[in-house]
Amino acid sequence: MVDRGSFDRIIQAGGFISVPAGSAPDAHSMPVKKEDADDAFDAATCIGCGACVAACPNGSASLFTAAKITHLGLLPQGQPERDSRVVAMVEQMDLEGFGGCTNTGECTAVCPKGIPLDAIAQMNADYLKAAR
Ligand code: SF4
Repeated sequence: MVDRGSFDRIIQAGGFISVPAGSAPDAHSMPVKKEDADDAFDAATCIGCGACVAACPNGSASLFTAAKITHLGLLPQGQPERDSRVVAMVEQMDLEGFGGCTNTGECTAVCPKGIPLDAIAQMNADYLKAAR
Protein backbone atom coordinates (compact mmCIF):
# COMPACT_ATOMS: atom_id res chain seq x y z
CA MET A 1 0.00 0.00 0.00
CA VAL A 2 1.38 3.38 -1.00
CA ASP A 3 1.16 6.25 1.47
CA ARG A 4 -0.43 9.00 -0.62
CA GLY A 5 0.38 11.55 2.10
CA SER A 6 4.00 11.35 1.11
CA PHE A 7 3.03 12.21 -2.49
CA ASP A 8 1.19 15.27 -1.19
CA ARG A 9 4.24 16.39 0.77
CA ILE A 10 6.50 16.00 -2.29
CA ILE A 11 4.13 18.19 -4.32
CA GLN A 12 3.89 20.74 -1.51
CA ALA A 13 7.70 20.98 -1.49
CA GLY A 14 7.84 22.48 -4.96
CA GLY A 15 4.89 21.72 -7.22
CA PHE A 16 3.89 25.31 -7.78
CA ILE A 17 4.86 28.45 -9.64
CA SER A 18 4.89 32.04 -8.42
CA VAL A 19 2.98 34.58 -10.46
CA PRO A 20 2.86 38.34 -10.10
CA ALA A 21 -0.57 39.59 -9.11
CA GLY A 22 -2.43 41.65 -11.66
CA SER A 23 -4.29 41.03 -14.86
CA ALA A 24 -3.74 37.80 -16.72
CA PRO A 25 -1.26 37.99 -19.61
CA ASP A 26 -2.44 37.30 -23.13
CA ALA A 27 -2.28 33.59 -23.93
CA HIS A 28 0.08 34.14 -26.86
CA SER A 29 2.50 36.40 -24.96
CA MET A 30 4.66 33.49 -23.77
CA PRO A 31 5.58 31.22 -26.68
CA VAL A 32 6.23 27.54 -25.87
CA LYS A 33 7.85 25.09 -28.30
CA LYS A 34 5.32 22.46 -29.37
CA GLU A 35 7.62 19.63 -28.30
CA ASP A 36 8.02 21.13 -24.81
CA ALA A 37 4.29 21.79 -24.52
CA ASP A 38 3.49 18.20 -25.52
CA ASP A 39 6.01 16.73 -23.08
CA ALA A 40 4.81 19.02 -20.27
CA PHE A 41 1.20 18.06 -20.84
CA ASP A 42 2.12 14.36 -21.02
CA ALA A 43 3.91 14.67 -17.66
CA ALA A 44 0.95 16.53 -16.21
CA THR A 45 -1.28 13.52 -16.82
CA CYS A 46 0.25 11.72 -13.81
CA ILE A 47 -2.65 10.97 -11.49
CA GLY A 48 -0.58 10.06 -8.44
CA CYS A 49 -1.92 6.52 -8.39
CA GLY A 50 1.27 5.05 -6.90
CA ALA A 51 1.42 2.09 -9.30
CA CYS A 52 5.01 3.04 -10.15
CA VAL A 53 6.09 2.84 -6.50
CA ALA A 54 4.26 -0.43 -5.95
CA ALA A 55 5.89 -2.02 -9.00
CA CYS A 56 9.42 -0.83 -8.28
CA PRO A 57 11.66 -3.43 -6.59
CA ASN A 58 13.36 -0.52 -4.78
CA GLY A 59 10.12 1.20 -3.74
CA SER A 60 11.25 4.30 -5.60
CA ALA A 61 8.93 7.24 -6.20
CA SER A 62 11.19 8.66 -8.88
CA LEU A 63 8.71 8.37 -11.76
CA PHE A 64 5.96 10.18 -9.83
CA THR A 65 8.32 12.90 -8.60
CA ALA A 66 9.90 13.31 -12.02
CA ALA A 67 6.48 13.70 -13.65
CA LYS A 68 5.56 16.47 -11.23
CA ILE A 69 8.90 18.23 -11.72
CA THR A 70 8.92 17.83 -15.50
CA HIS A 71 5.50 19.26 -16.14
CA LEU A 72 6.51 22.60 -14.62
CA GLY A 73 10.19 22.50 -15.56
CA LEU A 74 9.50 22.39 -19.29
CA LEU A 75 7.29 25.47 -19.36
CA PRO A 76 8.44 29.11 -19.24
CA GLN A 77 6.23 29.73 -16.23
CA GLY A 78 8.17 27.09 -14.32
CA GLN A 79 11.65 28.48 -14.97
CA PRO A 80 12.07 30.96 -12.06
CA GLU A 81 11.81 28.17 -9.49
CA ARG A 82 13.22 25.36 -11.61
CA ASP A 83 16.37 24.83 -9.55
CA SER A 84 14.82 25.27 -6.10
CA ARG A 85 11.86 23.10 -7.15
CA VAL A 86 13.90 20.08 -8.19
CA VAL A 87 16.10 20.26 -5.10
CA ALA A 88 13.14 20.63 -2.72
CA MET A 89 11.07 17.88 -4.32
CA VAL A 90 13.90 15.35 -4.65
CA GLU A 91 14.99 16.00 -1.06
CA GLN A 92 11.40 15.60 0.16
CA MET A 93 11.16 12.33 -1.79
CA ASP A 94 14.29 11.11 -0.01
CA LEU A 95 12.98 12.29 3.37
CA GLU A 96 9.83 10.25 2.83
CA GLY A 97 11.99 7.13 2.74
CA PHE A 98 11.43 6.01 -0.83
CA GLY A 99 14.13 3.85 -2.37
CA GLY A 100 16.61 4.93 -5.00
CA CYS A 101 16.02 4.48 -8.72
CA THR A 102 18.18 1.90 -10.48
CA ASN A 103 16.47 2.19 -13.86
CA THR A 104 14.71 -1.16 -13.79
CA GLY A 105 11.84 0.34 -15.81
CA GLU A 106 9.11 -1.49 -13.89
CA CYS A 107 7.49 1.86 -13.08
CA THR A 108 6.98 3.04 -16.62
CA ALA A 109 5.75 -0.42 -17.66
CA VAL A 110 2.81 -0.20 -15.25
CA CYS A 111 2.13 3.54 -15.40
CA PRO A 112 -1.43 4.03 -16.69
CA LYS A 113 -0.41 7.38 -18.17
CA GLY A 114 2.73 6.19 -19.94
CA ILE A 115 5.09 8.54 -18.11
CA PRO A 116 8.48 7.67 -19.68
CA LEU A 117 11.78 6.91 -17.96
CA ASP A 118 13.11 10.01 -19.73
CA ALA A 119 11.32 12.06 -17.07
CA ILE A 120 13.60 10.55 -14.41
CA ALA A 121 16.68 11.27 -16.51
CA GLN A 122 15.53 14.89 -16.86
CA MET A 123 14.90 15.14 -13.10
CA ASN A 124 18.36 13.77 -12.33
CA ALA A 125 20.02 16.14 -14.81
CA ASP A 126 18.14 19.11 -13.35
CA TYR A 127 19.00 18.04 -9.80
CA LEU A 128 22.71 17.68 -10.54
CA LYS A 129 22.78 21.10 -12.20
CA ALA A 130 20.80 22.78 -9.42
CA ALA A 131 22.66 21.16 -6.54
CA ARG A 132 26.11 22.28 -7.77
S1 SF4 B 1 2.22 5.12 -12.12
FE1 SF4 B 1 2.31 6.91 -13.54
S2 SF4 B 1 0.37 8.01 -13.13
FE2 SF4 B 1 0.70 6.63 -11.37
S3 SF4 B 1 1.85 7.90 -9.84
FE3 SF4 B 1 3.38 6.80 -11.06
S4 SF4 B 1 3.96 8.25 -12.71
FE4 SF4 B 1 1.99 8.97 -11.85
